[in-house]
Amino acid sequence: MIDVDFKGFRYHKPIPNFYKIENPENPKTEISDDLLAELDDLAKKYDFTGISYSKLSDDFKKDLNIEIDNVLIFKFLMGVDLINMEPSREKGKLMDKEFQEYGIHVYEFADFLRENGFKADLIHPLDDNLSLRAIAMQSNDCVITRSNMCYFKDGLHNSFFMIHTSIENLPFKTENDMLWVPDFCSTCGVCIDRCPKDAFDENEKLLRKVCTAHREGCNECILKCPFFKRGYDKVKKRYDRMKKRSENV
Ligand code: SF4
Ligand code: SF4
Repeated sequence: MIDVDFKGFRYHKPIPNFYKIENPENPKTEISDDLLAELDDLAKKYDFTGISYSKLSDDFKKDLNIEIDNVLIFKFLMGVDLINMEPSREKGKLMDKEFQEYGIHVYEFADFLRENGFKADLIHPLDDNLSLRAIAMQSNDCVITRSNMCYFKDGLHNSFFMIHTSIENLPFKTENDMLWVPDFCSTCGVCIDRCPKDAFDENEKLLRKVCTAHREGCNECILKCPFFKRGYDKVKKRYDRMKKRSENV
């Protein structure tokens, strides 16, 4: 744990600097499998579920007006007890605390990489201008659900932090096997029907000012979602059965 008074991440503020090691002057670009496995172990030591990797194309960088190439995505699951609490200001604060507690470890992950000769910088986790979800989608390891969640197979109640790095040879996925999810969502819509705040407009766009997820920790659209209740594999089997039936009609 970092022994400083951690004030946390704030919107529209520079990211706090809790690195203990500077970036190397001439960063390396190739990582060994063993070192990557060590980084994975370090992340798991702090209860992260795993790491995904995004390679950003030139077109993508141009569209978003960003200069980063390689991104590590450190994923974690929000605590189930917390998710099941009734929404309240107190719950919102507890969720924020949990987020900050995971976040502090990401500086250690960056330091691990810096120490081993790579450039590594945390991406501000609350910087909406960067569109972290768009960057996450470049990993080919997640999809955006109808409830507007960025869903990795690790769990619908996941959250993540990102580090951009000089490492070029990360195990980037080139195909996304989750692209069936929006089709399944089109047959469901439970999240929208059960939202207690009517936080989706007529085009099903999430109205951020109406949604109380961040203020009070509402998770109703997560709790009611088949992906949360049954898990990815079971929903996929159900979807495959549905597809087969519709093909046989
Ligand atoms: S509740 Fe249904 S529509 Fe909403 S995200 Fe989950 S599967 Fe998709
Ligand atoms: S978090 Fe709650 S308020 Fe926000 S969209 Fe989901 S169900 Fe609606």
